[in-house]
Amino acid sequence: MQAETKTIGSRSLTPSTHWITVARPPGFRFEPGQHAMVKIATPSGADDRFLSIASAPSDDHLDFAVRLSDSDFKQAFSRLKPGDPVNLIGPAGRFQRDPNRPALLLSGGIGITPLRSMLRDAVHRSDLPLTALLYGNRSPDEIPFRSELDGLAETGRVQVVHTVDSADASWKGPVGHIDQGLLEQVLGGFPQPPKYYLCGPPGMVEAMSHLLTSLEIDNSDILHEPFNGY
Ligand SMILES: Cc1cc2nc3c(=O)[nH]c(=O)nc-3n(C[C@H](O)[C@H](O)[C@H](O)COP(=O)(O)OP(=O)(O)OC[C@H]3O[C@@H](n4cnc5c(N)ncnc54)[C@H](O)[C@@H]3O)c2cc1C
Repeated sequence: MQAETKTIGSRSLTPSTHWITVARPPGFRFEPGQHAMVKIATPSGADDRFLSIASAPSDDHLDFAVRLSDSDFKQAFSRLKPGDPVNLIGPAGRFQRDPNRPALLLSGGIGITPLRSMLRDAVHRSDLPLTALLYGNRSPDEIPFRSELDGLAETGRVQVVHTVDSADASWKGPVGHIDQGLLEQVLGGFPQPPKYYLCGPPGMVEAMSHLLTSLEIDNSDILHEPFNGY
């Protein structure tokens, strides 16, 4: 569907990422993991990007979040304020959770957006098998939705493990990219083999695909959503 809606909230998530929430147009139904074409006004005219829907179907609003850049679109996105119009075309996409299998979500940076939707959905519903997130970021202050993700994990319905490229001594978690050791540690908690959902910049998604292939995970158990443009 195509729908005109309005910005309700807009703020920085981390120094390099920005979040907006918009009113959910009546009849806008989607599955966790899907995306929409988001069109906004910029100084050089209307412009659009594919953005994953970061909120869950049970939320009454739609969330979107981006990694900032110099592009006119991203600069205009970061300046959106309540009341500003946003045009949506969607939802679309086959990056969707299999409700009958446990899910291991592997994410890097702003690739969290469709996976946040899946995590919020898993906490909201009681009928989904185990859902775990293994999430890599540059540094602790660059983890989008960090406190919210940790709060979701505290419900006991989902698991969340962070790793960062670098951190000072106050960081108690793993340091470095997601690797075989970390993957196997998280996999140890699964009662049966999960399906894998990979989302992030193309380089990260490619590296995770290679890792899973080297562990002889069946291709049909791996879903990808590479964010082009990074
Ligand atoms: C299904 C899907 C879901 C997505 N979800 C999200 C999301 O939730 N959040 C998010 O942040 N992103 C998401 N993306 C990526 C998003 O659509 C943008 O591509 C990305 O954010 C980059 O946009 P930009 O405006 O910063 O850069 P762009 O202006 O689109 O540029 C992208 C890259 O191309 C280069 N480039 C641009 N123009 C040219 C040119 N003329 N010649 C050569 N190089 C050029 C730029 O230098 C830059 O490196 C998603 C993509 C897909 C396909």
